[in-house]
Amino acid sequence: MRFSTKLIHAGGPDPRIEGALTVPIFQSSTFEHAGRMGYHDVKYARLSNTPNHDVLAARLAALEGTEAGLVTASGMAAISAALLSLVGAGDHVLAHEALYGGTHSLLTGDLAALGVEVTFVDANRAETFAAALRPNTRAFYVEAITNPLLEVLDLDAVVAFARKHGLTTLIDSTMATPVNFRPAERGFDLVLHSATKYLNGHTDVIAGAVAGSAERVAGVKKKLDHFGGSLDPHACFLLERGMKTLELRVERQNRTSLAVAEHLSRHAAVAHVFHPGLPSHAGYARAKAWFRGTGGMLSFRPAGGVPAAERFLGSVRLATSAPSLGGPETLVTRPATTSHQGVAAAERARLGIGDDLVRVSIGLEAVEDLIEDFEHALG
Ligand code: PLP
Repeated sequence: MRFSTKLIHAGGPDPRIEGALTVPIFQSSTFEHAGRMGYHDVKYARLSNTPNHDVLAARLAALEGTEAGLVTASGMAAISAALLSLVGAGDHVLAHEALYGGTHSLLTGDLAALGVEVTFVDANRAETFAAALRPNTRAFYVEAITNPLLEVLDLDAVVAFARKHGLTTLIDSTMATPVNFRPAERGFDLVLHSATKYLNGHTDVIAGAVAGSAERVAGVKKKLDHFGGSLDPHACFLLERGMKTLELRVERQNRTSLAVAEHLSRHAAVAHVFHPGLPSHAGYARAKAWFRGTGGMLSFRPAGGVPAAERFLGSVRLATSAPSLGGPETLVTRPATTSHQGVAAAERARLGIGDDLVRVSIGLEAVEDLIEDFEHALG
C-alpha cells in the first residue's frame, strides 16, 4: 500500500467487524476470558489491546515504517513512558536544549527526582556531543522540528553519534507528522507524537503515539500499562477517524503556511519570519533534503517589538489566540507568555526566543482569508 492508502486501510480488521466499514467503538473495560491462555492474553482496555487500540497501533507502525506502534492517553504519556522504559536511577540522558516545555520539565524535574540526570546540548553542534557523554548515558532525545523557532536539527549527526556510543534515540515528530518526515527511515529508534495535534487534527482529542521496533515498543507498553496511560476506546475511534484525512490536511497546511510565511517575510511591519520553507531559515537545506513538506507552523517577530506582538494577537479576527497546534483552526500565541513562560527570560534570550515572537499554527482556512486577517491585524 502507498502512504495515502495506508491511512485508510492499514491495520484494519480482516474480516471487517460485522461488516462495518469503520471500526466500532469497543467501550468495554474488560472482555470475556474464554479460551485465553495466560495473563498476557487478557483483553482489558488499560492494556491497550481492544480492537480500537489494535487498529491504531498497526496503522501507526505502517505510517512510520516501523515494526510496532502504540497509542497513549496523551503526548506526555507517550514521552514519559518511552523515557521511563529506557532510563532509571543512575542513568543519564542527552537532550536538545530547546524542547517542548512539558518534556523539559519532565527531564529536569520528575526524572531528576527519580535519579536520572540530563545534559542539554545544541543538537546542531555535533562537535559538542562527546564532551557531554558519560559512561552512564543511555539515550539521546530530540524533536524533528523545534518549537517555536522551527529549527531542523542535525538529525543525522545525532543518530550517528548515538549508534557509535550505544544510545537509544528518541524523536518527538509531532510537528513533522509522518506525511512530511518518517524519522525511523533516518535511523531513529523511537518516534513519539502528541497525537492531540496533527494526527488527530480536529482539536477534540488528547492522545499520544509511539512507533519503533517490536522490542522497544513492547518495553514502552509495559511502562504504559503500569502507569495507566492508555487511551480510552472512544478517543481511539476519534483518533482513527481524524487520521484518515492526515495527508490531505497536512498537504494543505504545508502550502498555506509557506504562502503566509512568504507574504509576511515581504511585509514592512514584520522584522523576521521563521519557517523552514524559506531560504533565509537555517533549517531550509535539511528540510528540503529530508522532508516532503515544511509543515504548518511558522513564527515571526513584528517590527514594533512586544507592543506590536500584543496588538497583533488582540487584533486577529479569524485566527484565535490559544496554545496547541495542528488543528483545522489557525491559532496564534506568544511563546514567552504561554509555552515558554516557565523558561527563564535570560535562557529564552539565549535560545533566540524573543519576547516579541509570535507563533502561528496554520489551520485549514482559505489562505486568502488568513492573509487578509493578518494584514488587518498587522495594520
Ligand atoms: N510534544 C510537542 C511538540 C507538543 O507541542 C506537545 C503539546 O503541546 C506535546 C508533546 C505534549 O502533548 P500532549 O499535550 O498531547 O500531552
